[in-house]
Amino acid sequence: MLSTIRIVLVQTFHPGNIGATARAMKTMGLSDLVLVNPRSFPDEEAERLAAGATDVLNTARVVTSLDEAVNDCVQVVGASARLRSLPLPHFDEPDDMAQSVIRNAHEAPVALVFGRERSGLTNDEIRCCTHQVSIPANPEYGILNLSQAVQILAYEVHRAWRKQAESGFTYQRPLDATPPSREQFGHFQDHLARLMQQSGFLTQPHARTEEQLQALFARAQPSRKELSLLRGLLSAFEAHLPTK
Ligand code: SAH
Repeated sequence: MLSTIRIVLVQTFHPGNIGATARAMKTMGLSDLVLVNPRSFPDEEAERLAAGATDVLNTARVVTSLDEAVNDCVQVVGASARLRSLPLPHFDEPDDMAQSVIRNAHEAPVALVFGRERSGLTNDEIRCCTHQVSIPANPEYGILNLSQAVQILAYEVHRAWRKQAESGFTYQRPLDATPPSREQFGHFQDHLARLMQQSGFLTQPHARTEEQLQALFARAQPSRKELSLLRGLLSAFEAHLPTK
């Protein structure tokens, strides 16, 4: 099950951080590494810091957008030292995040997403996430090195996985409660946005209405079945729009 837990690094500047991340992952049994537009990869410095984890580097995939990295995932957790304005569900403690991730990873891939060394994740990238997590730290100096943040969250995930394996308990979600993939959720959000435009509901172009509604649905975490109900509802409304 650890094999369905993906680590995604967005636009990493120092290749050494990619190597150190591979090592951090391997020590915790993780192997799925995806790099979004790294500045330099493959790279000798990455190999050097990966030490015995070059296999994780060799199988890492490089993609050109965060969307592409997480589209098939049912849960996408963005790691961020700062709270942003988007009201996504937020894990204040890494162990709560780890338990949730371990439950979801039974069914489909889940991703932990880490930002750039200098500027973290953009708001658009956070919008690709279903959840956020922060590692509580010194309020006066709470930003960790990228690979060390990976190490801490990977440790928590491994710990939650071990506890679950030791207890012999496997979480069985009812079949109709499977969460949608990001791609399915994205289709719903597009459909909603289209209908809000076409129906004349959005009257002020710069209002944050669309974003707020999208955040509401992200927070509600509908299952696949509920999402398809909602899409059916949108289609029914759509059919009653006057044709222009
Ligand atoms: N200046 C950036 C910090 C980037 S540190 C910012 O303010 O966002 C690089 C990455 O490491 C971050 O994007 C985040 O994914 C992770 N990280 C660092 N410290 C963290 C913390 N305390 N909690 C969660 N993630 C953290």
